[in-house]
This record gives sequence, structure tokens and C-alpha cells, in this order.
Amino acid sequence: NEDLKENEAKSVSSVTSSRRRSVLPQDMSKPVYKRLSHAVKSSDMVPKKGKFEDSNRPNKQFYQMIEEFRETLEVLPLSPSDTVEAHRICVCVRKRPLNNKEVTKKEIDVVSIPGNGTMLLHEAKQKVDLTKYLDNQVFHFDYSFDESSTNDLVYRFTAKPLVQTIFDGGMATCFAYGQTGSGKTHTMGGDFSGKSQNSAKGIYAMAAQDVFALLKQRRYSSLDLCPYVTFFEIYNSMVFDLLNKKAKLRVLEDEKQQVQVVGLQEMYVSCAEDVIKMIEMGSACRTSGQTSANANSSRSHAILQVILRRRKQVHGKFSLVDLAGNERGIDVRSSDRQTLVETAEINRSLLALKECIRSLGMDSHHIPFRMSKLTQVLRDSFIGENSRTCMIAMVSPGMSSCDSTVNTLRYAARVKELNGTSKVND
Ligand code: ADP
Ligand code: MG
Repeated sequence: NEDLKENEAKSVSSVTSSRRRSVLPQDMSKPVYKRLSHAVKSSDMVPKKGKFEDSNRPNKQFYQMIEEFRETLEVLPLSPSDTVEAHRICVCVRKRPLNNKEVTKKEIDVVSIPGNGTMLLHEAKQKVDLTKYLDNQVFHFDYSFDESSTNDLVYRFTAKPLVQTIFDGGMATCFAYGQTGSGKTHTMGGDFSGKSQNSAKGIYAMAAQDVFALLKQRRYSSLDLCPYVTFFEIYNSMVFDLLNKKAKLRVLEDEKQQVQVVGLQEMYVSCAEDVIKMIEMGSACRTSGQTSANANSSRSHAILQVILRRRKQVHGKFSLVDLAGNERGIDVRSSDRQTLVETAEINRSLLALKECIRSLGMDSHHIPFRMSKLTQVLRDSFIGENSRTCMIAMVSPGMSSCDSTVNTLRYAARVKELNGTSKVND
């Protein structure tokens, strides 16, 4: 398929012509698709005594091909001292490390991060003549975080720049997107080890800390801003208050299209520790009554909002959203009705979210927020000149997650693929 090759070639050439340094070997400067596709003929597949050889590993040929490809990559990891660019819409990707279970199973890591906002996915494929080859797909984002990146580093380039926005009277949203188990809650809620959660290490808490740091600054202290927190969950189009024993809440829209979640507890907070307590209380509430830790919580969106009020009026609002898992390929025949309804609803809300962010980026007057409860509830964050958003797309590194990873990366790429520019000129 020549068209396809041409497209691939274009994406390769855009890697090499990027502003900073090339992430691929020098001899790739001429866009040649073949070079990205490491085919190995079946006759070559007899295990060689090589440095990546491991006779017990499933799919060892692919493992070797990927490791050999990696050897040719020039890697430029993101460093905390790199400049944080101001984006109105920022889309990033984060790869988590292989977990113990995956390491034990010798699962192959099929994701590489050369840096510079690039993520490579090495998809294992086979031709009709059974020749195995790697389809190395290149994706570009504002930032790409590798498995060694800490929540601190991720926060610095994603949510941190948005804290300022709410002090300047704007709206900010930050989304964690990805399949279940890819690290959304880890990124937003904090480190988990065993059953305990260190909420102080999540983006929620780091954002709260910065909110209180800015509140103390002289230029803002005169504004008389009061910080409040809400924490709620959207499951199957229903809203539940995580700070009030999962009370079910109604969403109303008045004639001016102002959306209200009736009865949502808005807690006054006086320090970052107060917020951390709310995060822990809400997270416990979110997972309570579930048989397995990831059962329902992975099927719902959790939204933590930090609201700054000035004389009762909303001055700015930061919504941090741990989205429901974007699982695909659920088995329609073996799933019960409930699961199918849930899945359809999640798909609808994630589609709506993508469309809303795209509309925001195109300065469109029509924002399709009514498409789902999620976007309806976040409506006020998508409008207004001073609204900014950030999406962190999480991926699991394993070969068995490859289909989901492709999905996640395509979705994230669509969110950012906008007409016009999404850079803030300041
Ligand atoms: P999700 O919320 O997307 O379903 P989790 O955040 O619960 O996924 O992560 C799944 C598991 O992987 C958890 O045990 C979590 O601690 C671990 N994990 C996720 N991301 C990382 C990371 N960057 N570093 C170390 N462990 C991680
Ligand atoms: Mg989760």
C-alpha cells in the first residue's frame, strides 16, 4: 500500500525535522519507511547467540528486534530544567514501568520514549508469508514521559502551569486518560503501595500545594480568594458525591445553560493538608463496597475540583479528572447487559470530551458539551477565553496491551490535532 508508506514516511520525516534534535539515528534523515520497519525473514529467525537472546522468552524474536532497534535510538530524556511551554491545550503521554507480574511473565516492553514529545510503539506483525516484522509507529505530543519519570516531573510540565490560570480568573482542566491499569490513579491520586495511598505524591495534592503557595503571594492576597474543594464521581451518567457518602446528585441546567450539581458538598479548605484529607476520604469512598480495587472505580470518572471564590462568586476553577478506563474490545457475547451499557456510556463520554477539547482549540462557538454528563458538568471549564486544558494519556508498556495503547495514542493525537494554533502567546 503506497499511500500508507507515504504517510509513514511523512511521519518519520517530521521526527527528523523537529525543532530540537533528531530522535532517530542520523542515517534516517532521508525518510525511508523500510528503515523503520525491521523485518526479519523466517530463515533468520533461528535463535542467534546474541546479547538479547533469552531462550525462555515468549516472542523472543520480537524482543530481539525491539532491543536492536532501541540500540539505534538517540534518547534525550526530559529534564526538570527544560522549559515549560505555555499551551492552551497540552497533550502528553506517560508510560508506566512494567510491573512485577509482567516482569515475571517476561512480557515484552513495546513502547520507547526517545524524548522530545515523541513516543514509539513497536507493534509486532506478521506478513502472509509468516515473516515477522516490527511496525514502528511514531507519535508526537507536547511532552512524553518515560517509565522513570516521577509524578513530580509529570506535574511540573502538565498541571502546574494551569494553577496560575485559576488565579487569573480562568478555568483549567487536567485529564488522566488511558486503559485500566495504565497509571491514571497513580498519577492523579498518588503513590500506592499495597493498600495504603500516599496522596501527597499525586497531581491532586501537588496542585493543592501550589494553590496555597500562590494564595500567600502578595499580588493575590489582596483579592480575598477563598479555596474550596469538591470531589465527585460520574458513573453511568449518574453523579455521586465522594465527600458525602456517595450521595446521588441531580444535574440541572437553567435557562442560561448554567449547569448545577444540586447538593454537591463544597468544602472550605485552609491548607494543602486539608485537601489531602479530602482526597483520601473521597478515594476511600470511591472504592468502598467493591469486591476488587479496580472493579467499579475503573468504570467511573472521578473529578476533584479546586474552586477559588471571591465574595461568593467563582473566580477560577481547576478540575482534575481521573477518567474511566478506555477499554476496547470487550466481548459483546460474554458481557452482561450492565457492562455493555456502561461501556457504551464511557465511550460516549470520552468521545464527547475529545470533541469539546477540539472545539475549545478551534475557538468554536459551538461546544458539544451536552453529548455526555461528563462534559455537561465540566461545561463552564470549556468556555471563556481564559480556559486551558491538559490531557495526560497513560500507556501500559506490555505487548499484550498493544491494541489499547494504539487506541490511546490515536485518541490523544486527535485531541491535539487542531486547526490553527493552540499555543498561548505570552
Ligand atoms: P489506573 O488508575 O489507570 O487503572 P493505576 O494508577 O491504578 O491504574 O495503576 C495500576 C498499577 O500500576 C498500580 O499498582 C500503580 O501503583 C502502578 N503504577 C502505575 N503507574 C506507575 C508508575 N509510573 N510507576 C510505578 N508504578 C505505577
Ligand atoms: Mg484508577
